[in-house]
Amino acid sequence: MSESKPLALLREVFGYTEFRGHQAEVIEHVAGGGDALVLMPTGSGKSLCYQIPALLRDGVGVVVSPLIALMQDQVAALAELGVRAAFLNSTLTGAQAAEVEARVRRGELDLVYVAPERLLTPRCLELLAQSRLALIAIDEAHCVSQWGHDFRPEYLQLAVLAERFGGVPRIALTATADAQTRAEIIERLRLGEARIFVSSFDRPNIRYRIVEKDDARRQLLDFIRAEHAGEAGIVYCLSRKKTEETAAFLADQGVAALAYHAGMDAELRRRHQERFQREDGIVMVATIAFGMGIDKPDVRFVAHLDLPKSVESYYQETGRGGRDGVAADAWMVYGVQDVVQLRRMIDESEAGEAQKRIQAAKLDAMLALCETAECRRVRLLGYFGEAAGPCGNCDTCLDPPAIFDGSVAAQQLLSCVYRTGQRFGALHLIDVLRGEATPKVAQRAHDKLSVFGIGRERNAREWRAIVRQCISLGLLEIDHNAYGALRLAGESRAVLKGERSVALRAWREPRRSARVKPSREALSGPAHELFERLRAWRVEAARRHGVPAYVIFHDATLREIARMRPSSLDTLRGISGIGARKLEAYGEEIVGLVRSA
Ligand code: ADP
Ligand code: ZN
Repeated sequence: MSESKPLALLREVFGYTEFRGHQAEVIEHVAGGGDALVLMPTGSGKSLCYQIPALLRDGVGVVVSPLIALMQDQVAALAELGVRAAFLNSTLTGAQAAEVEARVRRGELDLVYVAPERLLTPRCLELLAQSRLALIAIDEAHCVSQWGHDFRPEYLQLAVLAERFGGVPRIALTATADAQTRAEIIERLRLGEARIFVSSFDRPNIRYRIVEKDDARRQLLDFIRAEHAGEAGIVYCLSRKKTEETAAFLADQGVAALAYHAGMDAELRRRHQERFQREDGIVMVATIAFGMGIDKPDVRFVAHLDLPKSVESYYQETGRGGRDGVAADAWMVYGVQDVVQLRRMIDESEAGEAQKRIQAAKLDAMLALCETAECRRVRLLGYFGEAAGPCGNCDTCLDPPAIFDGSVAAQQLLSCVYRTGQRFGALHLIDVLRGEATPKVAQRAHDKLSVFGIGRERNAREWRAIVRQCISLGLLEIDHNAYGALRLAGESRAVLKGERSVALRAWREPRRSARVKPSREALSGPAHELFERLRAWRVEAARRHGVPAYVIFHDATLREIARMRPSSLDTLRGISGIGARKLEAYGEEIVGLVRSA
C-alpha cells in the first residue's frame, strides 16, 4: 500500500512519523480546496495544517500573522527543512521586499508570511491578484475579536480576502477556545462555509502544580534546581519591580535569568526576548507583557509567583510550556495575600461596576482552582466546557490531599470574624484565634473575647489555609471598602448554626521540593551524557546557521538520539524530527558524535 501524499511530506520534509489530532483531516480538506476554521491548543501543531496543503497545491501559500518578530525564525526553520519561504513586513528594506515580491510573482515560493497591515496595502493585494495562490492562512485568527485581549483592528479588514480571492481556500487558526470568539471569527472573516475543526484543549504533557506560598523566591529556586537546572522556563510576576528583583536573585544564584516587562527600554527588552528565543536554557522572569508571540517549543516550565487574574490567563500562560510535546511543568505558589491584592486592584480600577463583577467572578474561579481537592485538569477543562476524567498528571492526582470535617474550624474562624466586627484581615484574625497577645489585640481588647485563643491547637499556616478555603467556598468575602478585611458571606450563618458541614483539605507541611516523581523519564547516565554533548553541538550548529537552537533539532529529537544511539544514517532516519534535509545536513555529524561517545 502506498502512503498518502500528505503523509509522505510529513515524513520526508518534516521528519515526523504520524499526524496528530485533526491535522490529517484539516490538511485533506484544505488541500482539496475547502475553507477551514481550526481551533487547537497551543503546541498541538497548527502550522502543519497550512504548510502541507501549501506544498501540495500549486502556487504560494499566503500566511497572515501578526507576530512580526517571529516571521524570521519561522522562515529560517522552513529553510532548514528545504521549504522555500519568505516574509513581507516592515523589517525589510525596500529592495529586500521587492525581491520577495518578485519571487512571489515568479512562483518561486511555497510560503510567504505577511503582516496584516502590509497585506492590506493596494500594492500587496495587487501582487497577490497577479500571482497564483495555493491558499490563504490567517493565523491567530482570534485577533479579529473586539472583546478579546489581542484585538487587532487590521484583522477586521481581512474580510476583503473573501471577496478578492474567492477561489482560494482560506484557513483560519487560533488557540482561543470560547464560543463567542469562534462566532466572531466566522462572521468577520466570512467563513460561513468553512468546516470547523475543534480539538481537545487538553495539554496532557503539562503537569499542573499549585503550592502554598511560603518564601516564594526560595521555593522557586529549589524548584528550578531540583527539576529544571539548565533548562528554559518562564516565571510570571505581577509587578515590574518584582520581575527585576527576582531575575537578579536567580542570577545571583547561578541561574541564567533575565527580566522582561513593558516598562523596560525597548532595545533591552528586544535583546532579552531574542536571547530567550535563541539560546538554550534562559529563564525569563516577566510580567504578562511577555507572551503573545513566544513560539519557543522547548520551554520546560512556567512558574507563577503571583496569582493570575483568571483561569483563562492561567491556562494561556501555562500553555507556553511544553509545545514540543515533551513533559513540562506548570508550577505556582500562591497565598491569601495574592487574593487580597488582586481583589483590591479590581476594586480600585476604573472599570464599571458590571465589569468589576465579572473580574471578581473570574478571580473566584481562579481561587477555586487553587483550592480544589479534585484533579486540576478536570477543573481546568471543565472551565472551558470540556469533560474529562482524573488525569494522573497533576499534584492532586499524584499526591491526593486528605480531606477532613472542618466544620468546627470553620465555625471558630467565622465567629472570630463576627465577634471582631467584620473589620479585620486574615493576619489579625489568626492572632486572635491563636491567642497571640499582640499590641493590636491588646489595643482592641480582643483578648477579652470568647474567641480569643480557641484555635490554639492549629498553627498560623494551617489557619491561613482554612481562611483561603472559606473564601473560596464563599463563606467569607474580602471587603471592598476596608482593605483586606474579611466579612461573613454566603452560607456562613448556616455553618455557624451547625446546619451545614464544611469539608476542608487538610493542611500539611509543604515539601521542600517535589515529592511527586519527575514529570519526565530520566535518561540513564551515559544517555544523559550524550544528550548534553548533543545539546552543546546544537548550540554550535545554531550559531553557524544563525537560527535558534530548537530550529536545528528539538529536545525531543536529541533525547531520542541519546537513548537510541543510532550508529548509521539509516537508523537515524527513523527518529522523529529528522527529515530528509536535516539528515543530509547533520546526519554525518550526529552519527559521528554518537560513535565517539
Ligand atoms: P501551534 O502553532 O499549534 O502552537 P506548532 O505548529 O508550532 O503549534 O507546532 C508545535 C510543535 O509540534 C512544533 O515544534 C511542530 O514541529 C511539532 N509538531 C507538529 N505536528 C507534529 C506531528 N505530527 N508530529 C510531531 N511533531 C509535530
Ligand atoms: Zn489530575
